[in-house]
Amino acid sequence: MERMPLISCILIILSLSLISTGKGERFWKISPPEAQPAERLWRGKLGEALTGLVNARKGNSVKGVTELKKYLQSFGYLSHEIHNFTDSYDARVESAVKLYQRSFGLPETGNLDAQTLTQISTPRCGVADLIDGSSVTPRLKHFTFFHGTPRWPRRKRNLSYAFSPLDKSLGIDEFQLRTLLARAFHRWSRVIPVTFTATEDFESADVKIGFFSGNHGDSQAFDGPLGTLGHAFCPQNGRLHLDAEEQWSLNLEEDKAAIDAIDLESICTHEIGHVLGLGHSSLKTTVMYPFIHPRTRKVDLTADDVSGAQALYGINPHYSGGLHQAFDGFSLFFAVLSSLFSWGLFILL
Ligand SMILES: [Zn+2]
Ligand SMILES: [Zn+2]
Repeated sequence: MERMPLISCILIILSLSLISTGKGERFWKISPPEAQPAERLWRGKLGEALTGLVNARKGNSVKGVTELKKYLQSFGYLSHEIHNFTDSYDARVESAVKLYQRSFGLPETGNLDAQTLTQISTPRCGVADLIDGSSVTPRLKHFTFFHGTPRWPRRKRNLSYAFSPLDKSLGIDEFQLRTLLARAFHRWSRVIPVTFTATEDFESADVKIGFFSGNHGDSQAFDGPLGTLGHAFCPQNGRLHLDAEEQWSLNLEEDKAAIDAIDLESICTHEIGHVLGLGHSSLKTTVMYPFIHPRTRKVDLTADDVSGAQALYGINPHYSGGLHQAFDGFSLFFAVLSSLFSWGLFILL
């Protein structure tokens, strides 16, 4: 009997958290994304290069074009068969820049005008947009898939997830992180017949989440603050990596002073889309759009995100668009509750 007050207390706290996480997510958006001066985002090797590339165009040989070529190649706009980069802004760079501009609705000038440089300087996901200058959906008009449309097989529709031991220096509260992850996974499982269950067993988990710095063994090195924020691999790889050097925020309202704060839940929600098999979307409002500014929260799946996930896995029979709000709060409650219990909260009771 003496356990009852504690259990009741936990249920009340979780219920209150629902109010601020379900429908209440609109609350969290009362702090609109601040305009980000592009220059402030121009950091690291790419940032240094960008400052010298204003209005660069075909025929120029400018210091920094090598870094631009690496950027275009790593995100799929320039063929991986090209090696030995120089600072020559040649025809191949021009067509890669045009493809980049077309993909994100920018004027196809082929030059590094202000709009294009601003786009390049915006922090983003490290997963490539295209494969060697081509994609399943050439103009990236909406949701996309990885090459070959990999997805989790029918026998594996209850995926387990775990994160690698948390480095204390990150300053991230583990309990809050677990709650945040449960919410991020739930956004997807609400619309498709795939469920996610937290586990302590990192090695055998289907989805392995971790914070890493620089080169961390998967040939996709992180680049320090801003730039590339995270990446994840297609099914059935399951790795979801976050750049440990970002200024991660679990609550932007509480971290008002952090001008470069990156909303962790937004990035996790995006990367889970990759874990499920979704590629990038060129629609700015979608969760699967590859770019996000600091101090921006974008966690609500749009119709495009939902359509992409449902094209891979079908529709969650409990999901019904307009009626989902009531269901959402109820199921989110149990998703968070079961996650916390499976992480060992029962030890406290
Ligand atoms: Zn991405
Ligand atoms: Zn990685």
